[in-house]
Formats: sequence, C-alpha cells, structure tokens
Amino acid sequence: MSTLVIVNRAAGHGRAARIWEQIRPVLLARGSEYEWLETLRPGHATELARDAVSRGFQRIIAVGGDGTVHETVNGLAQSPVVLGVIPAGTGNDFAKTLALPKDPSQALAAIDSGRVRRIDLARANDRYYMNVAGVGFDAEVAGEANRIPKYIKGAAGYLVSIFRVLPRYSPITLRINLDGRVLEQPCLLVSAGNGRYYGGGLKICPEAVPDDGLLDVIVGGDFGKAETLAVLPRVFTGTHITHPKVKTYRAVKVSIESPVPLLVQADGEIIGQTPVTFELIPGALAVAGAPLPSA
Ligand SMILES: [Mg+2]
Repeated sequence: MSTLVIVNRAAGHGRAARIWEQIRPVLLARGSEYEWLETLRPGHATELARDAVSRGFQRIIAVGGDGTVHETVNGLAQSPVVLGVIPAGTGNDFAKTLALPKDPSQALAAIDSGRVRRIDLARANDRYYMNVAGVGFDAEVAGEANRIPKYIKGAAGYLVSIFRVLPRYSPITLRINLDGRVLEQPCLLVSAGNGRYYGGGLKICPEAVPDDGLLDVIVGGDFGKAETLAVLPRVFTGTHITHPKVKTYRAVKVSIESPVPLLVQADGEIIGQTPVTFELIPGALAVAGAPLPSA
C-alpha cells in the first residue's frame, strides 16, 4: 500500500526524533511503497497530507503528537486515504481515545494489521478536529498553554496555564444552539467532543464515542473560582460530569454566540473567535490499527 510517513521530529521534546530513528530502518527495508517527509513549520503537515492525497497515496502515517495528527487530518479529511498514527507527542489524546498502542513498534504492527476503523470527525467553523473543541475557560487555557515554555510538558503545562487563567476568568452568558434547542446561560466553558481527551489526558468528554454520529457537549455553568478549582481534579477521571453545574448533551451541530468575542480552541489550537459552529461529520476518517471499541 503506497504510504507517506509525515514526521514531526520536534514533537514530544525529542521523543518523536528518537522514535523516528527506531522506525525508519524498518520502513527503509520495506522498499519503494514507503516515502517520508519531515515537517518544517506549523501547518506543514496539512500541506504534505493534502499533496499526498492528490498524488494518490493510499495511506498516511503521522509520527508526532496531537498537533501533528490535527494538521494531517486537516489535509486528508473526507478523502479515501487511511490514517495511521505512531504516537510520539507529549499528550497523545487521540491515541488514548482510540486505544492505539503507545509503543512505536506495536503501533506500527497495528497499522500493518490491515484493521481499519472508520470514525467521525468534527469541524469548528472550517477547521477539522478529531478530539475536542471549545469556548470559554478551556480555550483561554489553550491560548495560555501556547505561550508557556515548552519544557513544561503535557498535562503539567495545562495545569500551569489553568492557574494563570483562573484569577482573570469569570463565566460569561453564552447562547448555545444544540440542533435547534437553545440554551442561554452563564458558562465557564462549552466543550464539543468527538474524542474524549484534551490537554494531555484531561478526560473532558468522558462518554464521547468517536463513531456514534454525535458530538458530546459539556456545558460547565456558573462556576465561581473556588468551585472551578474544586472540580478540576475530577476532569482527570471524567467524574466532573456528575457535578450539578455540569450538563451534558449530544448534538450534530452546536452554534455558540457570546456578547464579546471569545477564543475558540480545536484540539488545543486557537482557531479563531466566537461566533463559532461545531459540526459533526460522520465517518469522515479511516484510522488504521484502531481496535474496535470495548465500551
Ligand atoms: Mg461522538
């Protein structure tokens, strides 16, 4: 199967580079069906994936973290090209939702198995995402996380960002349209998940199923700062959804309007400001090596 490997050597603070040195001789020995290209700048993986689709590649393997997968997905969404992932980032939230093997050799073996799981994708305005997008506190945290030093890894980086955003952020009244059902209420955040995790292991949408044709929508209501702090640890286990100020919904299309423009994050990247529409695209991605869901 003609395969392009997109390698982000910078992912995972050197981890991706080490993994690539391990995988590369294996692929080299397989001959001409495999080509590889390294990303050189932000957005490059999208360009490489788009180009691979138009050149007729049948499969693209991303070696990197969620940022690399996000960019690659934006280049191949709704094409017949199958995505393989060798998790090599700090968070690997996509791999977690799909239970892809963490070990690089096992991840490659899973891709080679020929097993393909078709899953949904989502779009935040015109940007595809595979994990979670949102507005409010979490988007502010994502914006802050992109500014803090890279040596603070994964969930730790998110925690530092949370403590920087917490003092300055208060719930804002949002108008949320869930497939025609309108809510208008003060919100700490609204998250629309295709996958379950963001921020390197925060289980924000713990019941999201990536092939049920629906977004899992988590609405965090009128939380004070102390309440926010108290509920945060529960996001690691997903038990925050039983908090009385947290409501969960399922919808295909979710539009959010706010009285002032708010940041919008998708897979941890800031993609713009409100108003925003999150929309589920059923079956838009084929993933190689993903086990079938157990629950
Ligand atoms: Mg779903």
